[in-house]
Formats: sequence, C-alpha cells, structure tokens
Amino acid sequence: MNLIQLFDLSLMGRSAKPALEFAGISYTFGELESRSNRMAQALAARGLTKGDRLGIYLPNCVEYVDLYLACLKLGVIALPINILYRERELTHILNDASPRLLVNQEDLPALSRAAETMPAERPNVFVSGDDPAAIIYTSGTTGVAKGAVLTHNNFAANAMNIIIAWQLSSEDRLLLSLPLFHAHGLGNGLHSWLIAGYQTRLLERFESSRAEAEFLDYKPTVFFGVPTMYVRLMSCDPAISQTVRLFVCGSAPLPAQLLMDFRERFGSTILERYGMTETLMIASNPLVGERRAGTVGLPLPGISAKVVDGEVYIKGPNVFASYWGREEATRAAFTDGWFRSGDIGMLSDDGYLTLAGRKSDLIISSGFNIYPREIEEFLLEQPEISEVSVAAQSDPVKGEVPVAYLVLRTECDLKEIEQRCRAALASFKVPKAFVKVDALPRNALGKVQKHLLPKT
Ligand code: AMP
Repeated sequence: MNLIQLFDLSLMGRSAKPALEFAGISYTFGELESRSNRMAQALAARGLTKGDRLGIYLPNCVEYVDLYLACLKLGVIALPINILYRERELTHILNDASPRLLVNQEDLPALSRAAETMPAERPNVFVSGDDPAAIIYTSGTTGVAKGAVLTHNNFAANAMNIIIAWQLSSEDRLLLSLPLFHAHGLGNGLHSWLIAGYQTRLLERFESSRAEAEFLDYKPTVFFGVPTMYVRLMSCDPAISQTVRLFVCGSAPLPAQLLMDFRERFGSTILERYGMTETLMIASNPLVGERRAGTVGLPLPGISAKVVDGEVYIKGPNVFASYWGREEATRAAFTDGWFRSGDIGMLSDDGYLTLAGRKSDLIISSGFNIYPREIEEFLLEQPEISEVSVAAQSDPVKGEVPVAYLVLRTECDLKEIEQRCRAALASFKVPKAFVKVDALPRNALGKVQKHLLPKT
C-alpha cells in the first residue's frame, strides 16, 4: 500500500471534515484532495513523471501540502529543502539530487494559477510501498550533506507507530509550527495527521511572541515541539496547556531540568522521543507509563535498538533505503543490516534509552571520554544559566578539552560556576574555559551547531 492509499482514510473517508487551518483559512480533507489532484496535473503538464525529483524550497504553507501530496500521487520524489539554506547549500542539494523542477516562492504563484485551471482528477500512476516518497538531506554538520531516501513504507511505518503510541485520533487538534522540510514536521506532523484524520493548524513558523495567542485561540490537544520551543513556552500563561493532552518533544536533547520546570508550571510531563532523518522515529517515552526524564524512552513497535561500543544501532521498517547516489556511504552506514546512528547511548535494564550526544561530539581528553551532555545537564541546573553547549577544543597536551558556552539568565561570576563544576564533576570534565555568549548558533530545528561556536 502506498501513502496516498493510507491517506484516503481521510482524503476520501472524511472528505467533508475540517482538515487544515492555515493563515486564517480552513480546508476540508476533500478540498486537499482536489487541490493536490490539480497540482499533480499541473506538475505532470510540466513534464514531471514517476521517479523525477521535485525540489520544494518553501516555508510552511497550504501549497506545501498540495505539492507533497501531488508528488506522492505521481510517484514523483519530493525533495524538501531547508528554507534557511543559502546559495552554497542549495547548490549542493540541486547538484546532488538533480530535481526536474524546483518550486520556490517566486515560482509558486504561477504554478498555483496553472493548477487552478486543471481538472481535479487524480492521476493514474501505480506507486508501491517500496517506492521512494522523499529525499531529505541530513543537516550535514559533519562532512557533506547526504540525501536520505525515505520510502512510502518508511513513512507509513513511522506514522502508524506514533498514531498508536500516542493514541492520535480524529478527535485531536494539532498545532504544528515545525517546518515541513524536516523529517520531524513532515514525517510526524503531516503523515500522522492525514492518516489519523485530525485537524491541524499549520503555522508558517514558531514565533515566541505569537505562541501564547495561538494556543489560546486554537485550543490544540497535541503539540509537537523541539526543546527551544519549550524554553520559549515557559514564559507563557499556564492556561496554554489547558486543552493539551500531549506535549511531545524531540530532535534535540530535552534537558531534564526543563522537563521538570515545565511540569511544575503547566502540570504536564513532556513526552520525549528520539528520531533522525534516516530512521524517522526510533524511540519514545510511553503515553501511559513512566516518562523518564533525561531518557528518550523505549524503541517503538517493530524497531530494534542495541548499543554497540557505546553507539546506538537501529533496525526496523522505519530505516531509510539508501543515501541518494551514494552506494559507498550507504554501505558504510550499516553493519550486518543494522543502521549505525552515530549517537552515543545507553540502554537501561528495563529498556529505556538515554542519549549522551553525537559520537562526533565526544571529547577525548588525556584518554578520558567526556560526554558533553553530562556537563551541559549539570550547568543547566544552575539557576543563572539559561542555555549551554559544551564542545571540544584542541589542546597540545590533552588532545582535547571541554569548553562551555553559556547564555546567562542573570549575571554571575563565572569563577563561581567553575567552582560548582569542580565540586560536582571529575576534574577532567570541568570545562577549561567558560565563555559567555548572547545566543547559541542553532539550526532551524533549534539544534546547536557546535561547529559554529566561537573559537576560544
Ligand atoms: P535530524 O536528522 O536532523 O533529525 O537529527 C537527528 C539527530 O538529532 C539524532 O541523531 C540525535 O543526535 C538528535 N536527536 C533527536 N532527538 C533527540 C532527543 N530526544 N534527544 C537527544 N538527541 C536527539
């Protein structure tokens, strides 16, 4: 079965039901069906056929949904591109994936006008579950960005898992401010929405100044966010959580302190989960049962996870097919059929997975392994510190040493912070320097880009 056949539960089965709100306009599932059919006809008229790639370089908008559905209906492979990418990053992706067409904000109006004149008939193309649905480029913080080829089956397995695990139903209301160009917004947001058939209010992006009003006005039951969003939500009226039965967080580590502060202010325990572009969702804390702070919970149904030499290995129907055009990199990413995630993790006796950071972020100082996350968690417990990142700095004697970059909530003496580290951590883990910064360099999902931290 392909994704459209699954989405038909909503596109056909709930055609008169409200599906989407975007920029103050509402659409039913039936309207999304006919809009995307017209868009598919318009793309076909421009020569796109099964197996071609369509670059989508747009912020969240209703046309994004039309374009993505149109691709699936035509068997065209969607190529979502991070809207924050500039010339150099864009050129790399375009050269690598060679899309037949790129839709950007300048071209969209003409394409939409063309779509309006097309018949609303669904194109008749056979697409199987094993066909690629999308190529999503990894953020490429180390080395060159590679395109992860995700099949219809990958997305279906992922969406069905989270629908069951989080009990998403047509009664839900999702407030979605994650970008659709990323596996989190696309894989979790769009796919589970169109299968489970709930209502979604899509925002162009998350804006802290508007978040409170959006929650109070839309009254969502479910919110999918990343840790930086939860930091911003902390200053909102506690009333925002009144209608929300589930706050989900992922894409970057949720500090245990933030989970506890959020619970105290909003009376809700954020459910943390773990995923990546190549695998979509891997693990989740349970909806019913213990949501263990600092952990990403249990591997989802059908997914196996093991830890080999400290690294998390994954197997399951969610794991991507290949890196686009890179046989060698694909082979290198797997060992005996297991995908090596590049994340350092630990599995507890009762199966909960705890992540300690990317393998590439591991700091080795005089032969000691230092996991930046451990130091970051400790520093975040200090009331004066609001954000922190610990990264390696090369050292002529020790090889590498940790350096802490701090965003302060209130002014404080950094010597005092160092003292507290000395009292709480082994000496080799105490950062060699503490650097005050106004903000941490983050990508569109709020993940700290350690390679962009200032050198000391
Ligand atoms: P991306 O492919 O951009 O989604 O990035 C995936 C990476 O984000 C993973 O390999 C992890 O390093 C990190 N990540 C995702 N979710 C979590 C989480 N809940 N806690 C810690 N790291 C996470």
